[in-house]
Amino acid sequence: MSKLIRATVMHTPANPFESDQAFESFADGAVVFKANRILSCGPYAEMREKHPEADIIDERGAYLLPGFVDTHVHFPQLTIIGAMGLPLLEWLRQRTLPAEAALSRVPEAEGAADLFLERLAANGTTTALVFGSHILTAQDAFFRKAANSGLRITSGLVLGDQNLLPELETTVGRAREETQELIARYHGHGNLRYAVTPRFSVSCSGPLLEVCGELLESAPGLYFQTHINENKEEINFVRGLFPSSRDYFDTYERYGLAGKRSVFAHNLHVSDSELSRMGTCGCSVAHCPSSNSFLGSGTFPMARHIKHGVAFGLGCDVGAGSGFSLFNESLRAYETQMLREDGYRLSPRHLLYLSGAAGARVMGLEKQIGDFTPEKEADFVLIRPPANSTLRAVLERAASCEAALGALFTLAREESVAATYVAGRRIHPKGLPA
Ligand SMILES: [Zn+2]
Repeated sequence: MSKLIRATVMHTPANPFESDQAFESFADGAVVFKANRILSCGPYAEMREKHPEADIIDERGAYLLPGFVDTHVHFPQLTIIGAMGLPLLEWLRQRTLPAEAALSRVPEAEGAADLFLERLAANGTTTALVFGSHILTAQDAFFRKAANSGLRITSGLVLGDQNLLPELETTVGRAREETQELIARYHGHGNLRYAVTPRFSVSCSGPLLEVCGELLESAPGLYFQTHINENKEEINFVRGLFPSSRDYFDTYERYGLAGKRSVFAHNLHVSDSELSRMGTCGCSVAHCPSSNSFLGSGTFPMARHIKHGVAFGLGCDVGAGSGFSLFNESLRAYETQMLREDGYRLSPRHLLYLSGAAGARVMGLEKQIGDFTPEKEADFVLIRPPANSTLRAVLERAASCEAALGALFTLAREESVAATYVAGRRIHPKGLPA
């Protein structure tokens, strides 16, 4: 049986960074879907006529957007959101690594995984590239919980063999063995995919990065994720550790870690040579604006990424990021670009693209998800502004759909997410299916 959701519908069937025709909106609109697939999208009256058999879910007053795609977020870090006053390396040493080490017991790891996955869905995120845990049992617990969450999750055991806490450090042999075990158990199962995940070059020896390159080749469709060029002190540290590398990117590139399914988080202090090579390799970047300002790391050179053809999506980067909301990240991306002299002038349609379709492209899932084109999978988020909220007051007076969209990105947060659907199935809130 097909279903029709009636609401204000907005999506970006094309890339607004490349086309003026990329944004589509229907004030009284509808999306029709059957099982996991979208059948059509358009004005309600037209959709009703075209699909008389469809069950109607009347959500007038709400807004239907494509599901959010988060390209960088850390499973073990929910509890350290708001740890203020520290730059990256101190923040890691004092707050983050001790919190990550606390997941050594399975019940704690399972509890953290449940909480983390619930918060993603509650914020309208339907697909996420997740930095996992250094601890095998915790990462296994995360994958088990993710399999039941309904979300599209790509994740991996985090690897490091130096400059961490001793209890988080692995060895080359153990890293190979544990990663192979998790790939065999979870990669390609349901909506789960595996990403080979060295933490960053500060915490990885050359031999460990070499093993990451071997692991990446060990099964089709594996992803690679790590951090790069986040903070100047970090970059200097890497320079000292890899004196024969020409730059930070080279510490990954030389081990075969830069390809079409490689996603590098941050990339703030990046040279033209690195950007040009990233563009050639076809690798992507996770832009995490709230984290970048929270840790005082710097601002994202968006225009230069566009110039070099390096694709980027958004990442909330919890726990350095200020929450799971990609509405929030989109607004922060907008503000960051407004502050930069060479900033890219973003409009609401760009933010809509960045929150969903851009991430789908980063993940190589652009044919499957990201907008409401027929045949794509029915991943969406339904936004209903709370009564008596500033958001509702603004939306009721919005002059156009795009003006409403600007208000949503500025004011809508977790409290406004009424429902989240993945592949036509409601995964939030839990309970009776709508
Ligand atoms: Zn991160």
